[in-house]
Amino acid sequence: MSHVAGSAQSPSSPASAPNASAPASPVSPLSPISLPWVTRLVSMDTVSRNPNLGLIETVRDELRALGIEATLTHDPSGKWANLFATIPAHDGRTNGGVVLSGHTDVVPVDGQQWDSDPFKPEIRGDKLYGRGTCDMKGFIGAALALVPHMQRTQLAKPIHLALSFDEEVGCAGAPLLLADLMKRGVKPDGCIVGEPTSMRPIVAHKGINAYQCCVRGQAAHSSLTPQGLNAIEYAARLICYIRDMADQFRAQGPFDELYDVPFSTAQTSTISGGNALNTVPAECKFQFEFRNLPTLDPESIFARIDQYARETLLPKMLREHPSAAIEITKIAAAPGLDSSEQAAITQLVRALTADQDKRKVAYGTEAGLFSLAGIPTIVCGPGDIQQAHKANEFVELSQLVACERFLQKFIHSMSVDALKEVPLGGAPKEVPLGTP
Ligand SMILES: [Zn+2]
Repeated sequence: MSHVAGSAQSPSSPASAPNASAPASPVSPLSPISLPWVTRLVSMDTVSRNPNLGLIETVRDELRALGIEATLTHDPSGKWANLFATIPAHDGRTNGGVVLSGHTDVVPVDGQQWDSDPFKPEIRGDKLYGRGTCDMKGFIGAALALVPHMQRTQLAKPIHLALSFDEEVGCAGAPLLLADLMKRGVKPDGCIVGEPTSMRPIVAHKGINAYQCCVRGQAAHSSLTPQGLNAIEYAARLICYIRDMADQFRAQGPFDELYDVPFSTAQTSTISGGNALNTVPAECKFQFEFRNLPTLDPESIFARIDQYARETLLPKMLREHPSAAIEITKIAAAPGLDSSEQAAITQLVRALTADQDKRKVAYGTEAGLFSLAGIPTIVCGPGDIQQAHKANEFVELSQLVACERFLQKFIHSMSVDALKEVPLGGAPKEVPLGTP
């Protein structure tokens, strides 16, 4: 057991740490060159409810020291921000190219039993422990550690870095970043989202759609139920409708057997209502969500729930009391991902990982948002999703090294040299992205 001192020993400039200047040389499997960056990022408590500006400004300043000016997009309060930065091609071109994308926020540690301080990264055995080591500061740290290598490489196409806020609470930050790219006319050819996939390419994931529902009735003494309107009872009917819909997905599909749960799912996850045993409850609030296969339109799924609430339940409630109301508001939504096998980014990541398996996952990522914005996207990053969000979250050091090697190959694939390797009339060794 040893405390990771890298972040304390060389905090000033991990992007240009000595090891980082020789990324192509053999690296011991247990000494990732990205450790100073990863530990530094994990040491910053960026649980989604806390501002991430400190982390973003740290990265901005480090990139600035390397001569790269990042663009920040802030939330309305100014306390949270996304960062977008470009390492231009050798001819100065900044358009096209590939985005390396990661979210900077992490999930809370409240109520979890950790064996070490979640925000003091610690190496035990062959693993680095700490909140966010796996999801997903490992990938961000690896990408940042390799920025000097990107700069030294004669890039044929630019490489971009995109760091977002509030992914874990419903992908709230990335849309601002994407809107800014659109406004500035920045149009990358592809994107790699480095969520934990054990460095295996993931081509599809489900969409996430979360809602809050408030059912309003009328309070009355429990002995006078006909004078009141029981909000809990009507909320229960809506909840049962959502469950029936989930059962229908399970029984009738559509199905996609490449997912571990091969159909869309839906459930109610929290509920509160009523204030006393002897009072007809005037209010009931609950939260529900559904996770759609990307081939299903989430709006049409929601429309069924909304229609049942408005056209079946509400008229019945209004007959009991005029104060009846059902309010449903969207809490979060992240579109599903369904990458084309033909997309250059899919073929590139498949070639770099030597992994041709079609893999689809149930968890959501920001990849669906990038894809929806017209940027072909694939998910591939270090660590196992099984470790994410749990106590004693860790990433195996060998996964960080694997990620660094993947990124080194990726950087090479974006280089002028890689283009020269394309034999005349033959198949390219690495799939070129976009037009050179
Ligand atoms: Zn994540």
